[in-house]
Amino acid sequence: MAQHIAVVEGVSVDTRHWIGGERVASQSTFDDTSPIDEAVLASISAGSSVEVDAAVSAARAAFPAWAAMPVAERSAILRRVAEGIEARVEDLARVETRDNGALIRSHRRGVMPRVAMNFRYFADYAEQELGHPDMEVRGHRERVSYDPAGVVAIITPWNAPLMLATWRIGPALAAGNCVVLKPPEWAPLTASLLADICHEAGLPAGVFNMVQGTGAGAGAPLTAHPDINRLSFTGSVPTAGVIAKAAAPNIVPLSYELGGKSPLVVFADSDLDLAVNLAVEQFDNAGQVCLGAFRILVQEDIADEFTARVVEKARTIKQGDPRDEATDISALVSRTHFDKVTGFVERAVADGAEVLLGGGPNEDLGGLYFSPTILAGAKPESEIICEEVFGPVLTVQTFTDEAEAVAMANDSRFGLAATLVTGDRERAERVSHLLDAGTVWVNCFFVRDLGAPFGGNGKSGIGREGGIWSFDFYTNIKNSVFSPVGWNTNDAAEEA
Ligand code: NAD
Repeated sequence: MAQHIAVVEGVSVDTRHWIGGERVASQSTFDDTSPIDEAVLASISAGSSVEVDAAVSAARAAFPAWAAMPVAERSAILRRVAEGIEARVEDLARVETRDNGALIRSHRRGVMPRVAMNFRYFADYAEQELGHPDMEVRGHRERVSYDPAGVVAIITPWNAPLMLATWRIGPALAAGNCVVLKPPEWAPLTASLLADICHEAGLPAGVFNMVQGTGAGAGAPLTAHPDINRLSFTGSVPTAGVIAKAAAPNIVPLSYELGGKSPLVVFADSDLDLAVNLAVEQFDNAGQVCLGAFRILVQEDIADEFTARVVEKARTIKQGDPRDEATDISALVSRTHFDKVTGFVERAVADGAEVLLGGGPNEDLGGLYFSPTILAGAKPESEIICEEVFGPVLTVQTFTDEAEAVAMANDSRFGLAATLVTGDRERAERVSHLLDAGTVWVNCFFVRDLGAPFGGNGKSGIGREGGIWSFDFYTNIKNSVFSPVGWNTNDAAEEA
């Protein structure tokens, strides 16, 4: 038993799967390492089709009772999960920071409270807002209902593991589905703590299941499983393509939240302090953020001053151990990813890009710490402009007028988000309409309500989630039409 517990930052984490309300171990394991110092944190059960089959069966068995439970009862349990998360914010923050290298200060004050909200918001929504007023059509009454879809498979990445998992688990469970989660192998630990919290909150066995493992070992059999009803994937474009093929024979609806290469468009009429701050904010989480606006497009007239100020401010970023509250950015998640980011920058420089800041490993820190990097002069068609790096690398390009800014911003196969900085309200209205992106931020970044639609265009994804859009995906929407005739009793007479 004890060998299945890893103690990480003083917190006990079970390294096994969570299936049908029980811990289940696998014969084979994989090592989970920390970005901070590449230390091995835990030896995690490596799931295969055997554990995936068991988890899907457990979810299927639990589904009828969970789906039939009155929504108020279901939501009450999910609110208890939210309370359990709130009670363990510190543990979750410490473990997640050690596991994926994101900042403890963000985890404590932003991310983990939001993880709790992912349950509370959708529990409240299901209870209080889900539904549609009956329609009266030619004397017939039409009732729209949101029926749970069944078993939902959820596959998530490492850059914000618990936040991204619960953003899907919350609405899926609130809608009355059962879930099988496959967490990321580079940051698997907080998913295990979530299983504990769900159990302690009284979530019935089998409603939430979690199979640890690699993409090939556990992810692939889950996506190809014939008994799942929805597949929700957050990750990279190449994996999304593989998954689409695996899921196709089973005609499973997919929701995809994928990569991005979002623009930050800075007009000459903008508040320059604000624009500089928004640019430097893109280094958050060492650039391992799908929504990051890494392609800076700045109007020619202010390009020199703006760029110089961004470089100057980026120099003050404090890089280091994410467990230190004073740290601004930390390390990249793994050696594999570090090498990938390094390769992108080396090829960009070989292809003619000029390094304005950084350009390689942080020599003072070593390990997986990659310096904040700013590149200029890259060719518009070059890899560094077109591909997602997922690291602390900004490029700067210039434009002359609004039309060119919009054309450059939209010249991407991605369309996740766009950030626009301008002091002109009319321009803001005009340009925000023209940008090809699921989310457009004007003079701000990263602000978003859980009730707003979230998702990407083009290669950035399929579908939208948030508020009612989550329930659209996680339910079977049914229209029941009630005729005015054919009833055994006469309502009018009964009422009289
Ligand atoms: P990834 O695609 O390599 O892995 C994501 C998940 O898929 C992991 O759990 C992995 O184990 C699993 N997986 C891998 N191969 C699989 C297969 N054949 N079958 C089933 N599952 C498989 O992505 P990553 O490197 O973990 O994450 C980074 C990517 O995620 C970036 O592209 C980033 O932009 C994207 N992302 C998008 C959003 C969003 O909301 N749009 C949010 C965060 C991250």
